[in-house]
Amino acid sequence: MQKKITVIPGDGIGTEVIEQALLVLDKIEKVYRHRFERQEAVAGGAALNATGVPLPAETLERCKASDAVLLGALGGPKWDSNPPGMKPENGLLGLRAGLGLYANLRPARIYPALANASTLKREVVEGVDLLIVRELTGGIYFGKPRGVSKEGEEEVGVNTEIYRTSEIRRIAKVGFEAARKRRRILTSVDKANVLEVSQLWRRVVTDVGKDFPDVELSHLYVDNCAMQLIANPKQFDVVVTSNLFGDILSDEAAMLTGSIGMLPSASLGGNIGIYEPVHGSAPDIAGKEIANPIATIASLAMMLKYSFGLQKESDAIEQAIVSVLEAGYRTADLKEEGKTTVGTKQMGELIIERVG
Ligand code: NAD
Repeated sequence: MQKKITVIPGDGIGTEVIEQALLVLDKIEKVYRHRFERQEAVAGGAALNATGVPLPAETLERCKASDAVLLGALGGPKWDSNPPGMKPENGLLGLRAGLGLYANLRPARIYPALANASTLKREVVEGVDLLIVRELTGGIYFGKPRGVSKEGEEEVGVNTEIYRTSEIRRIAKVGFEAARKRRRILTSVDKANVLEVSQLWRRVVTDVGKDFPDVELSHLYVDNCAMQLIANPKQFDVVVTSNLFGDILSDEAAMLTGSIGMLPSASLGGNIGIYEPVHGSAPDIAGKEIANPIATIASLAMMLKYSFGLQKESDAIEQAIVSVLEAGYRTADLKEEGKTTVGTKQMGELIIERVG
């Protein structure tokens, strides 16, 4: 197989974890005799530094001309005070919008070897295997009116949570279809007791559900879901929700696994998917060679599966991760007594050794 991948390392630990993922890709090429052509592109802080904008037109063009995008992380304190529209995050939002990616898939699976790494009790997290499907291009992150204006002596900040039937339908469908490939349980999360937009969300999801009678649908308020994710996370199979709620709940689900450094994601919808770790650029540990590269390597595994249909190769990476963890190797974020703490590069090498 021959494919073209655009690689956006980004900022902070983004560059460190991407380096390891690309070395894993080298090994996959060698063992399975594929050819993955790579082209680098800039976005976020790196793009602001190089070009003055968070998403240069050339980057979007490169992404559109490739088969998939692998991204590290964007952002950092250096650009925090940039004006709206000129922050690194605008690079990511622009990429998602430009590629028509409206669905973000975030699996949270507990690796057996890491059941003790969670802050929750082993019996609560053992066996957790859930998927959060987050709407990605609508809702309050894009809704208008937005902004901060003067009202007499006061300033007023406004953002708008807005969803159209078509947007809810298509993300609900992704949720139902994902559930069909798993345990056939779908939880739709909203705040329908307070928000009209959530009442519409609930009505439309219920309606889409008529085409999926084999999937068990239930609705949860977001506050209850936040609680249930901690109290009894095993009850969840697929969770479908809005952009804002999904952003928060997926980070909460991340912590079930022990570290945000373990969580991969896929953003789908158009022809070209973006694969990236759930975590950010972690400026507090950037340059220290201690970042966990597993989320990014697992994102690469998702790319091979979802964009290229390479199930065997994807499983080989997943299996290598399981094997390294079973052998007792941990990055600093998963530090555990009696286990061996390794750095970013060494974790990459240990995984590569076990691929194929
Ligand atoms: P973060 O995910 O970067 O870091 C949160 C905490 O988790 C930090 O203590 C960090 O050290 C730790 N952490 C994250 N990834 C890790 C890894 N792979 N290994 C070990 N530890 C890890 O979130 P934040 O601190 O809120 O944000 C930092 C910057 O990243 C901000 O500029 C933010 O806007 C940006 N950000 C970008 C993305 C993205 O590119 N998709 C996502 C979230 C945040």
